[in-house]
Amino acid sequence: MKLVFATHNPGKLQEVREMLAPKYDVIGLHDLNDYEDIIEDATTLEGNAIIKAQTVWERHGLPCFSDDTGLEIDALNGAPGVYSARYAGPAKDPQDNMDKVLHELEGVANRGAQFRTAVALHWNGEYIIFEGIVRGTIATERMGAKGFGYDPIFVPEGHQSSFAQMDATAKNAISHRGRAIRALVDFLIAQD
Ligand code: IMP
Repeated sequence: MKLVFATHNPGKLQEVREMLAPKYDVIGLHDLNDYEDIIEDATTLEGNAIIKAQTVWERHGLPCFSDDTGLEIDALNGAPGVYSARYAGPAKDPQDNMDKVLHELEGVANRGAQFRTAVALHWNGEYIIFEGIVRGTIATERMGAKGFGYDPIFVPEGHQSSFAQMDATAKNAISHRGRAIRALVDFLIAQD
């Protein structure tokens, strides 16, 4: 069965393809020659994930899913959250985003935070949401150069190193996205 992952990110697509093959043939937006922007203007991660899945369903009429992730910092009441990509402005610059977070947390003792991913699956006319969370703390400075986004300043619970100091396999094993996607995969594999 064909299933669309509403993403242009080849890394994300490949990972999920492998987890769902051969039962599902997961394709990305580029496989459908769909390069049209999707306006993600909801105020929650779940809302944005649903917007993406709904848009793909309306455009292509294929079962589909999408993901949306945010970094939620306790001392900032859950910010940057749904605004994580553009926290420091529309340029979506990860270095500027990290500088902003580090500046806002200067002198703050409570450095608790979590990455949270919401996956929305359009399935038999309904939206089903899967969630993945990893708790951790925000470091006082960048550590490591792997990964992307806020990885250099996020230290997952039970670890000394940041996500940017871990290889992809170690990160995926405990990450928010890995957990949400595994919940989705468990559901899909259990379907007749
Ligand atoms: P998206 O929903 O996957 O596009 O993620 C939105 C934003 O959250 C990204 O632009 C990054 O700033 C941040 N983000 C998402 N996942 C991660 C991650 O695994 N590590 C670090 N930052 C992330």
